[in-house]
Amino acid sequence: MGNVCSTNTLASIFCNLCYQISQGAKAAQKRERNAKTDKGKTSQKKPKEAPKSIICQSCRQDFFITTREPALEEHAQNKHSKTMAECFPTFGK
Ligand SMILES: [Zn+2]
Repeated sequence: MGNVCSTNTLASIFCNLCYQISQGAKAAQKRERNAKTDKGKTSQKKPKEAPKSIICQSCRQDFFITTREPALEEHAQNKHSKTMAECFPTFGK
């Protein structure tokens, strides 16, 4: 008894080895499909790099959300001779 099937279709269907291989292949395909689907979902759910940034209303320069108030105040005064509230009205809100 060899493991090689004849090319006869009926023989292939009833060959247990072929059946197992085809089932295994189907399962692998299914896993692959699921993996791709999951990957797609993951990429869709991928959060934006910075959910919010602080943008100067005077020059549109954006700062990290973690930028400290003194740095923003300094920017407002040095660059625009304005108050922090004028350049960053949304800060802290
Ligand atoms: Zn500015």
